[in-house]
Amino acid sequence: MAQNYYCKLCGMKYPSISSLTAATCSRSPVRNGNHVLYEGAEKSSYVCKYCGMKYPSLSSLTGATCSRHPNKGKHEPAF
Ligand SMILES: [Zn+2]
Ligand SMILES: [Zn+2]
Repeated sequence: MAQNYYCKLCGMKYPSISSLTAATCSRSPVRNGNHVLYEGAEKSSYVCKYCGMKYPSLSSLTGATCSRHPNKGKHEPAF
């Protein structure tokens, strides 16, 4: 079974870890930073580790601003 790998910053999906970490992430806190591997399992819903809000996909979770994020950033997935 093919496994997908996701970026925990933007939710983009890649077929391999090497292709994920080699590409630039538009939501990286670092200028021209690359995607960061989401190390949790693929789920039917994802929960923010700061506020507990639930989203149906990583990309929708990471696309919304989190009211409890320490740097007023986007939601971040809990593992
Ligand atoms: Zn990314
Ligand atoms: Zn949140």
